[in-house]
Amino acid sequence: MKRIVVLGCTGSIGEQALDVISKYPGSFRVTGMSATGSRTKRLIDLIHAFKPETVCITDERFYPPVRDACAGLAARIGTGRSEHLALARGESAPADMVLSAISGTAGVEPTCVAVEAGLDIALANKETMVTAGELVSGTVRKTGIELFPVDSEHSAIRQCLNGIDRDDLRKIILTCSGGPFLNRPGISLDDVTPEEALTHPTWSMGTKITVDSATLMNKGLEVIEARWLFDIDPADISVLIHPESIIHSMIECRDGAVMAQMSLPDMRLPILYALSGGRHPDFAASRLNLAGLGALNFRTPDTERFPCLNLAYDALKAGGTMPAVLNAANEAAVHAFVAKRIPFTRIPEIIAMVMARHSVRPVTTLSEVLESDRWAKETAERILGR
Ligand code: MG
Repeated sequence: MKRIVVLGCTGSIGEQALDVISKYPGSFRVTGMSATGSRTKRLIDLIHAFKPETVCITDERFYPPVRDACAGLAARIGTGRSEHLALARGESAPADMVLSAISGTAGVEPTCVAVEAGLDIALANKETMVTAGELVSGTVRKTGIELFPVDSEHSAIRQCLNGIDRDDLRKIILTCSGGPFLNRPGISLDDVTPEEALTHPTWSMGTKITVDSATLMNKGLEVIEARWLFDIDPADISVLIHPESIIHSMIECRDGAVMAQMSLPDMRLPILYALSGGRHPDFAASRLNLAGLGALNFRTPDTERFPCLNLAYDALKAGGTMPAVLNAANEAAVHAFVAKRIPFTRIPEIIAMVMARHSVRPVTTLSEVLESDRWAKETAERILGR
C-alpha cells in the first residue's frame, strides 16, 4: 500500500489524482491532504471521503469552518506554513510519495522540503522546476529519490526514455496543442477576451495554465522544466504544434529514430503513471482509436504571433534567477489579463520589460528564488500601474 500525501487536493490535478486513487483502494492510501480551503465545502467532502490522518488548510481564513465540520473525524486538521511543511516532509502523516499539485509559486517551498526529506515525488507544480530547477534537480540526485513528472509532456518523455541509453538521446520534442487561437490566424489577438482565452480545445485545466496555453508560455515553462528534469541542453529541446494532443511528446535518438508516447488527452494517465512509480496498470477510460482519428497534424510554432515561447528560451540562456523572474512576471501579467486590466498581446510585453530590468544572480538557495519572484511581481505591478 503506497501512502500518498496530496498537496493541493482541491485543484484540477489534485481532484483528478484523488479520482485515480479512489479506483485503486488496494494500492494507494491518502494519508495527508492540503488545500487553501477556499473550496471549503468540497474540501470537507474530500476529507470525509478519504479520511486522511492529517490535513493542512494553507489559508487560515478557511481553517475554522473546516476544523468544525471535521470535528467528528480522527483527522488532525492544522493550518499555517510550518504545519504545511511538516506535512510535505511526511512528519505529520506517514508518506511514501508526495503529489505536489499546488499551482503557482506557493507550491515551490513545500515541494522542495519534500524532496529534501527524501520522499518520492509526483510533480505537477510547474513552478518548482521552472524557478528552482537547478537546485531541485541537484537535491534529487543527492537524495536518490524518484521524481515523476505529472505534466503530460514530461511524463511522455520519461516513458519514451525507458530502455534508451542516455548517450543515444539527441533531442526532446515537446508537443503543443497550440491553444485556442491556433486556428484563428485572422483574429486580432489585441481584442481577444479572457473568456475566449479560457476555452481550451483539448485539455480541461485551471485558469492560469489555460491562459498560458493560449500565449504558448505554458510550452515555454515546459521547455524550462524539461531542461532540468532531463538534464538536457536547451538547444536540444524543440517544440512542435500538434493540435490533436494525442502524441504527448517525443524523443529523437542519434540514429534518427523517434519515440512518441500517445493516448487520449486525459491527465489521469500521467497521474497514474507517476503514482504507480512508472507502471501502466488497468485503467477504465476511453481508448485511443487511431483509425477513427484518421490523421495527426504537426506544424512549427508561430513565435512572432506568440513571443512567450522565445522569452522562455531567453530566460534559460540568461540562467540563474531569470527563469523565476520570467515565471513571476508572467503570473502577474496573466492575472492582469484575466482581470481585464490589459489586452492579451500586452502579456509578453510586460514579461519582456520585467526581464530587461533584472540583473541575473546565480541561484544557490530557495530564498533567492522567492526573492526574485517577489521582485518580479512588484516590478510587473509597477509597470501595470502606470
Ligand atoms: Mg503540459
